[in-house]
Amino acid sequence: SLYGSERQNSKGLDLSSEHVLAALQIGLQGSEQQQWLASPLLGDADISEGDKLPVRNPADHADIVGEVIEATPEHVERALQLAEAAAARWANTPVADRAGCLNRMADLMEDHMPALMGLAVREAGKTLSNAIAEVREAVDFCRYYAAQIVANFDNATHQPLGPVVCISPWNFPLAIFIGEVTASLAAGNPVLAKPAEQTNLIAAYAVRLLHEAGVPRDVLQLLPGRGEIVGAALTSDARIQGVIFTGSTEVAQIINRTLAKRGEDVVLVAETGGQNAMIVDSSALPEQVVTDVLSSAFDSAGQRCSALRVLYLQSDIADKVIAMIKGAMAELTVGNPAKLSTDVGPVIDAEAQAGLLAHIDKMKQRARWFYQTPLSEQCQQGTFVAPTLFEIDNLSDLTREVFGPVLHVLRFEASQLDKVVAEINSTGYGLTHGIHSRIDETINNIVDKIKVGNVYVNRNIVGAVVGVQPFGGEGKSGTGPKAGGPFYLYRLTRAAWAPKLA
Ligand code: GLU
Repeated sequence: SLYGSERQNSKGLDLSSEHVLAALQIGLQGSEQQQWLASPLLGDADISEGDKLPVRNPADHADIVGEVIEATPEHVERALQLAEAAAARWANTPVADRAGCLNRMADLMEDHMPALMGLAVREAGKTLSNAIAEVREAVDFCRYYAAQIVANFDNATHQPLGPVVCISPWNFPLAIFIGEVTASLAAGNPVLAKPAEQTNLIAAYAVRLLHEAGVPRDVLQLLPGRGEIVGAALTSDARIQGVIFTGSTEVAQIINRTLAKRGEDVVLVAETGGQNAMIVDSSALPEQVVTDVLSSAFDSAGQRCSALRVLYLQSDIADKVIAMIKGAMAELTVGNPAKLSTDVGPVIDAEAQAGLLAHIDKMKQRARWFYQTPLSEQCQQGTFVAPTLFEIDNLSDLTREVFGPVLHVLRFEASQLDKVVAEINSTGYGLTHGIHSRIDETINNIVDKIKVGNVYVNRNIVGAVVGVQPFGGEGKSGTGPKAGGPFYLYRLTRAAWAPKLA
């Protein structure tokens, strides 16, 4: 089958069990003291010389999590040579062996859960429950893509592309990193991994685990560094046959132009931003709406490309639902993500914080009113942004994606529903969309017309599950195919020609 019938999603950890919690606390304490290093991991050497840049915990800037040595142009060149030389060998490695590496990696990540969670918390500001979800999703990607190649690929019919660059984001520093890398490896392509500048440490940890799982060092190399330098050097190089990118729409466009200048068709898989909306009509269940709005907008401090940015409330219920949302926002605990009681952690860095605060200041002038979750003193130690709610009059007040815990409310009348859908489509983004309604006709009408990758009905709009809810958008939100879906790997291979004769 397309999905691999034996595969199951990772169960993660049950934090309601005292035993699990106690074991986790002990494991996490060990990783709190650790100092980590990320450096270029080349096929023939781990680089340990070079300027070391400190990595600070976004929740507590006094906490230095580790150091990063960035790749030089010489490292990039060496990695490209090694990847090119390794390509045929990896392409001819039996599918079952490639799948074996990924399945071992899934097991290794489960064994290393406390260290990986500790890094997700300290380097990326993930809450504990988000950190569990992070590891789970990474495990799922490994097992899913492994099952896919075993079920559908064989070395003769699916020809790999050649060296692929994986440029991954800081908001899912393990899950999306692993998703991009393991898909490329599964399809038979050597990988040059360039993680987000903010989250190199967890990526380096994962690369070492993948080597331990059996992926040859020259088949998977790590090149930490800046997008303008390392990313640009890789994507403009003629040896690179494919690029997988997750990040902003603007950077995807830069990569697209770089590839176009090369004058040959190079595969680009881009998953980018969204201006995601939810439409709530007056038949919706208000309590459910509030729960789902809060998790969609503020979980992960709103730093998901799937997160809710614009909430359309039908006028007759708007006042009531807004009052309930404000009440629930007042109860959110914003603070140290290492504490189980924390709902919302920091934003990733000072630049992100400054951009969000500038947006909030601007909207305070324009919006009808606003509400913010109060922040505690402790939030001074890191880059926190209060969950914020605005009521605005026009969607056009939002010119671009606001990547943080900021939600904008608009009211609509029942007669305007089609206009609302057209307005949402007109942003040009098309990632996620939510509907809360108990009228089938309304739901079906919106589902038919809305142009997005993932529509969610009567639930939250985040947390797509590998193999169950393939994730990805259209328009300014990405190229497809959807990650964690049955068509992703095909894009990373060349069309099947006549099978080789035995
Ligand atoms: N797959 C994630 C989700 O559904 C979002 C991925 C992203 O933010 O890039 O929440």
